Amino acid sequence: MTNPCALPSLAYPPSEEDLALLPKLEKRILRRVGETIKTYNLIEDGDKILVGLSGGKDSWALLEVLTSLQKRAPVKFQVHGITVDPGFPNFDPDPISEVCEQRGIPHHVLGAPIDALIRRRPEETPCIICSRLRRGVLYSYAKQHGFTKIALGHHLDDLLETLLLNLFFGGKLATMPVRLTSDDGANTVIRPLATCEEDDLRRFAWLKGYPIIPCGCPLCGCSIAESRRKQTKVLIEQLKGSIPQIKSSMLKAMGNVKGSHLLDLKLGAHASVGFDEAMEHL
Ligand code: SF4
Repeated sequence: MTNPCALPSLAYPPSEEDLALLPKLEKRILRRVGETIKTYNLIEDGDKILVGLSGGKDSWALLEVLTSLQKRAPVKFQVHGITVDPGFPNFDPDPISEVCEQRGIPHHVLGAPIDALIRRRPEETPCIICSRLRRGVLYSYAKQHGFTKIALGHHLDDLLETLLLNLFFGGKLATMPVRLTSDDGANTVIRPLATCEEDDLRRFAWLKGYPIIPCGCPLCGCSIAESRRKQTKVLIEQLKGSIPQIKSSMLKAMGNVKGSHLLDLKLGAHASVGFDEAMEHL
């Protein structure tokens, strides 16, 4: 089954002309990630970071960026890769382990019975089972092995799509947090690519020569959650035709919330004093 959300594939190997664009692209991505890390205090001295590696373009870009920053950042931190093997018949984590070995990055593969559970519980929403199990496996591994942060490869497009999904279907104004500590305080999830555009990351992973590993999920792009996400992606792309700065404007808006101009009393929307009294006389 093909994924209708998939971006058009880039031809291998990249041409000389394509490769000439890499330094500028790399600089842009590193600058954005550096600013995000600084603004949200994502990495601290002595951190032991577990990087979620699915073998997709975003996770490779994240690994490349963090290992590059490791060499130049004023703080010292460790980077390990982790791959959750969901048990889908067509998913093979071996190429991910090989790349990590070549680059001297410790890599761990954790099995999670996602495929089996989805088949066993057809009455439940598969993507909910999937994300719950993945999160559970990652959180407990990080906790057991003393990792201070779990880094995930979600990027700006993911954040914008989530914002619209929550607005259109969830009745709330929220996106994916850039930094989030779990309720029990044991895990902190960070998203260093939060301000990087998906297309930049895809080109970056391609120009760096990372292999893109299919996730193997037969539902990819077909579940209700996935098709709604696709709808928002298409909407943003369509609007971009007439509003070229749409993504940067939405990014700016997420960091510039006027609570008093919304309807949430918790954010400072105030009821007028004496309004109840006035209403009684209407
Ligand atoms: S579509 Fe994605 S989230 Fe849903 S079950 Fe498949 S891999 Fe998991």
